[in-house]
Formats: sequence, C-alpha cells, structure tokens
Amino acid sequence: MKVALLVLLGVGILTAAHASDVAPDDRFDVVVIDPGHGGADFGARGASGILEKNVVMQIARRIRTSLTALGLRVVFTREDDRFVTLAERAEIANRAQGDLFLSIHANSAEDREARGPETYFLSLKASDEEAMRVALTENEVFGREAAVPDSDDIVAGILGDLILSDHMRGSSEIATAIQRNLRQLNGASRGVKQAPFVVLMGVNMPAALVEIGFLTNAEEARKLRTREYRAAIADAVARAVRSYRDARQRIAGEGAAR
Ligand SMILES: [Zn+2]
Repeated sequence: MKVALLVLLGVGILTAAHASDVAPDDRFDVVVIDPGHGGADFGARGASGILEKNVVMQIARRIRTSLTALGLRVVFTREDDRFVTLAERAEIANRAQGDLFLSIHANSAEDREARGPETYFLSLKASDEEAMRVALTENEVFGREAAVPDSDDIVAGILGDLILSDHMRGSSEIATAIQRNLRQLNGASRGVKQAPFVVLMGVNMPAALVEIGFLTNAEEARKLRTREYRAAIADAVARAVRSYRDARQRIAGEGAAR
C-alpha cells in the first residue's frame, strides 16, 4: 500500500511539474532551503543529545544569510521548529517557483565510525545499499513502511523523463559543487550519491539533499556543536550555490545572445 502511494505521489507530482514547465523564467533568483525534520520529528540524535532538526536549522539560517547577501531570494520550507510533511515541503518550493531546492540533513549510522558529508540527487534506484538506507531513514516520516517503488515499468517511465530533464542535469551539477566544497572542509567526504528521497521527487526544479555529517560519530557531533564548524559548512554550501548560479546565468546569457 505504501509502495503504491509513493509511486502515485511521484507520478502525480512529476506530471504536474511538466505542466508548469511551459514558461521558464531564466533568471536564477530564488533558492528554496529545506531544513530537514522539525517538531515531533527530531531526525537523527547524537550521543550527546544533539538533534538533527536543530543543527540543520542553524546551518540553513547561515546559508540564507550568505545567499541573501548575493542578492538571492531565499524561501524556507519551515521557519521554526514545526512538523512539515515531505509533500508540503515540495509544495512550498513549487509555489515559490524556486530555481534550486536544497534539503539540509545530518546523518546517522549504527557504525559509530561512519563519518563525513555526502550529497544526494534524485534517482529511483539508489547508488548502493548504504545510499538506500539513508533514503529510507529520511523517508521514514512519509510512513513507517515507506519503501521504494518496485514496479519496473513505472520506474523506467519516470526515470526516462528525469534523465532527459534539465532539472536532473542541474541537480547533478549542484550536488557535485556542494560536495566538492565540503570535501575541502572534511577529508572524510563520502561523495555524490543518488537515492529515492521522497522530498526530492516532488520539486519542479534542480534539487539536492546534503547530509552534512554523522551525528552518531562523536567527533563530528562535537564539531557540529561549534558555531565555527556549522558556519564553515554553510559557507561551503553557499559558495557552491554561487558558482552554480554563475554557471547557469552564463548559459542563459549565451542562449539569449544567440
Ligand atoms: Zn534527516
């Protein structure tokens, strides 16, 4: 039942996305930031009590400050510590006609040694088992048994559309840029991955999900408690958005000049 629901949600939202693709606005001016979890949904919990919903909000706010200084309009999917469904988050992003959607999360694992940031963009097939586990954890709020759609036909149809879309290329580019900047901060970079995150399925714009580090790793949890490290992560993400924006505007400018 949950599988069918997830597929329907994905198909419905993707269909809606195509309908509104008709009049593209070339200007890159709106970034939607999605601080993960909120309210009764704490997200990951670190050994010392650090909560994902709080640390991602602190980082999101710092990213907003940097992006606003660049002249971008930033829209949040939640402004405070409240519960917002994954579908509502996508709706907020689409209503704002965002040019980019960034979901900010912190990771957890049974293996307390697991560490380092990783950045995702959407695929219905996960790049590996570990990526699948992360997507299932982040999708959990969608339904305790939320699973990946497993109908090959539907998956192939949606994927065909996605692969062709400019949004997918954009998603891959921003994920790569973010991860490149995070790697300079944290040598334990885990790379760019793909997985079926429900929150990314609904948005009609290039989208990435950043796992800033592992709260279950004592050393990373300790660093994430410091304002300096959180600021460094936020600045790395903001720099990636700036270079992505500059590249997009160059392409748009070349298109207009033709
Ligand atoms: Zn999360």
